[in-house]
Amino acid sequence: MLSNRARVSSRVQHRRVHHMRFSQPARLPRRPPEFRLQTPSRIMDSPPAMNSFSIGVDLGGTNLRVAAVTPAGERLETISLPTRLAAGPHAVFDDMAAAIRQLIDKQPGELLGIGIGSPGPLELPLGVLHHPPNLPGFDGLNLRTELERRLDRPVQVDSDANLAAYGEFLLGAGRAFAVDSLLILTLGTGVGCGIVLEGRIWHGMQGAAGESGHGPIIPDGPPCPCGARGCLEMYASATAIVRRARELGLAPHADPSTTGNGAPPLTASTVARLADSGDERALQVFDEVGRALGLSLAHLVNALDLPLYVIAGGAAAAWPLFAPRMFATLREGSYVYRLSMPRDPAVYEPGKTHVAPAQLGPDAGLLGAALLPLARSATPA
Ligand SMILES: [Zn+2]
Repeated sequence: MLSNRARVSSRVQHRRVHHMRFSQPARLPRRPPEFRLQTPSRIMDSPPAMNSFSIGVDLGGTNLRVAAVTPAGERLETISLPTRLAAGPHAVFDDMAAAIRQLIDKQPGELLGIGIGSPGPLELPLGVLHHPPNLPGFDGLNLRTELERRLDRPVQVDSDANLAAYGEFLLGAGRAFAVDSLLILTLGTGVGCGIVLEGRIWHGMQGAAGESGHGPIIPDGPPCPCGARGCLEMYASATAIVRRARELGLAPHADPSTTGNGAPPLTASTVARLADSGDERALQVFDEVGRALGLSLAHLVNALDLPLYVIAGGAAAAWPLFAPRMFATLREGSYVYRLSMPRDPAVYEPGKTHVAPAQLGPDAGLLGAALLPLARSATPA
């Protein structure tokens, strides 16, 4: 086994890896690079009945989205509501149940199941929330039983990060790469992480698997709300991008695309635009994002040896700005990656380790929630 791998390694090391397509910052708006293989070969359970559908719920701290989705992942209808946090958790549960009932009543076909994605920390498979920072007042409540009581039907609950991983696995990058396993890092307010192993969401012992956003990568780095220092989240989240840009002295008025009065607040997108316009400090911010992701991925690749790692979330749109440093750091930090890296990271090669941008955007979690009840194997044991 090892000798086979060593032979692969010697071949790989003689190949020149081309990163030219990422060497110049692209203009906004960006699209992730197109991957050349499209193999729609997901393993779904038994063929669904005609007109059947399932319901997915994406419970966020700001918005609540409920969608009816076909087993093939096509959205039939979506209801979006503000999450009425000020009215208390039971008002939010009532809103959720009412929206679900509304969709069930309108769809003519058979309801196959209901899946709900929630911000964590979420104890699984129970579905109990533990001090979720984005859902104040929900501590100790059981999301699953609250909804089952209101709907008089079974529901399945999972974390939003896990369901984003599952959605990308079934319908996005995972389908494009025809893989049976993947890990996703979602760069948003924080850094979410979800893992699908051999077609199943990997929950770990207590539902806490996939906390890689809180893996410390820089000793004595900035303190993180989780209690550690120098976590990936402190370097690669949208929040971190803005903080680092401010530390380097970037201000929103430096953005050439903004005109008129009143400087808008600095955002990760603003920093990306500044980087695109050649601002050295903004370029440095994304170089640091790439290094942080590369360090974290080196640990993940060495531990898991998966075929695909997906970078998702709003900040992932800046892929051309951080990918060169990310791949360089990953090559340097992981011999497992060096043994199995593709000749061109943007081109699929079977049997190689790929790191790729997500394909579904912010709908991944909603679609993953809807499809969760359709797979026998996805039920938390
Ligand atoms: Zn942390």
